Amino acid sequence: HDELTGLPNRRLLEEHAEKMLALARRERKQVCVLYLDLKKFKPVNDTYGHKVGDYVLKIVAKRLENTVRKSDIVARIGGDEFGFVLYDCKEYMSFVERLISEIEKDIYYEYVKINISGNFGITTFPEDGSDFEDLLIKADKAMYYAKTNGLKYFCYRNLPKT
Ligand code: C2E
Ligand code: C2E
Repeated sequence: HDELTGLPNRRLLEEHAEKMLALARRERKQVCVLYLDLKKFKPVNDTYGHKVGDYVLKIVAKRLENTVRKSDIVARIGGDEFGFVLYDCKEYMSFVERLISEIEKDIYYEYVKINISGNFGITTFPEDGSDFEDLLIKADKAMYYAKTNGLKYFCYRNLPKT
């Protein structure tokens, strides 16, 4: 696990995800993979220091955890990056919007009010790929597109063909 937030780390995410994909294959269900990059987090670290940055990460991790089903997976896969694997998530757009509104809620550290946000990339099994690593890389690409185009989230399948 990740020591700061207590969330699974990247390796645990991969292990759980492979099992969830195997189950989904068997039950012919969809799995949704999300890549989240926090927005406005770096300035928090730069302005208030690492202690406050760590506090913010912990609060965000708790919120993410409480917003998804126990049967879903949310993991910290980088400094301010998170990965999600959601079983049979039919309405993933509204799900992502629910997550964004949680992330954007005010965070207070003593007298300081902090606001952050996030960019999401979205992929689904089996439509966008069949192995987890591939799905996560594609979700990362979609996240990057969202980030560079000022969008809160973007689906891999809608990326412009180059
Ligand atoms: P859980 O399945 O682990 O879900 C945890 C929390 O994630 C929920 O807390 C809710 O905030 C959010 N969540 C999960 N699925 C959905 C969803 O489809 N739509 C929305 N808007 N939010 C969702 P909550 O609501 O306090 O529920 C606590 C627990 O009660 C759930 O844990 C689940 O075990 C059970 N539960 C509540 N409502 C339902 C339901 O409609 N169907 C089923 N099967 N279980 C439910
Ligand atoms: P909804 O909130 O509009 O969610 C629609 C569908 O999106 C869900 O259909 C499910 O396929 C997917 N979804 C939403 N949130 C989650 C999530 O946290 N994890 C995963 N894996 N999938 C999610 P479903 O399951 O048929 O639920 C239909 C409706 O029942 C939901 O509509 C919501 O209104 C209610 N519901 C189900 N479980 C919960 C819950 O735990 N808490 C609350 N508050 N509402 C729930």
